[in-house]
Amino acid sequence: MNQPDPMEFDDDSWLLDQELEPLSDEHWMRQALKLAQQAAEQDEVPVGAIIVHQNKIIASAFNQREQLADPTAHAEMIAITQAASHLNSWRLLECSMFVTLEPCPMCAGAILQSRIPRIVYGALDPKAGAVVSLFQLLNDPRLNHRCETLSGVLADECGRILTEFFDRKRKLGKK
Ligand SMILES: [Zn+2]
Repeated sequence: MNQPDPMEFDDDSWLLDQELEPLSDEHWMRQALKLAQQAAEQDEVPVGAIIVHQNKIIASAFNQREQLADPTAHAEMIAITQAASHLNSWRLLECSMFVTLEPCPMCAGAILQSRIPRIVYGALDPKAGAVVSLFQLLNDPRLNHRCETLSGVLADECGRILTEFFDRKRKLGKK
C-alpha cells in the first residue's frame, strides 16, 4: 500500500525536468549579457559575468576597470570575490561561471584558484583568451585543477556588443 505508484513517480520527474528547462546555459548567459550591456552604458568595455550556485545567481558583475581605476577589475575577478564572500569560502565548489568573453590569463588564473568546476563563455578572444585562443590554462595537465569549459553560448550576441562598443569609440575618436 505504501509503494508509490510508478506512473505518479514518472509524472513527477517529468514536471521537475520542465521546471529546470528554462535554467539552461543560454538562460544564464542572457543574464551575463545584461551585465555587459550595463558596462557599455557606463563606458566600460562590455564584459559581464555571473556565478551560479545550486541554480541561484550568487554573483553578478561587469568589467569596471575605468570606474575603479583597477587593472584587475575584470568582470570575472569581481564575480569570484562576490561569490567567495557569499559562500564564505575561497573554494567555489558546485558553482558555474557564465561570462560573455573568453577569460584572459589573469581571470583564468583566478578561476583555477577558486576551484570553480565549470565555465561557460560566449565569444572567443583571439587577442587575450586563455582558455583556447592563446593559452589553454583551464585544461593544462601540469596544474592541479582543471575546469570543464563550454564555449560559444550566445557567441554572436556576446561578440556583437563588444564590436559595437569599439566601433562607437572609434567614431567618437574621429570627431
Ligand atoms: Zn580577465
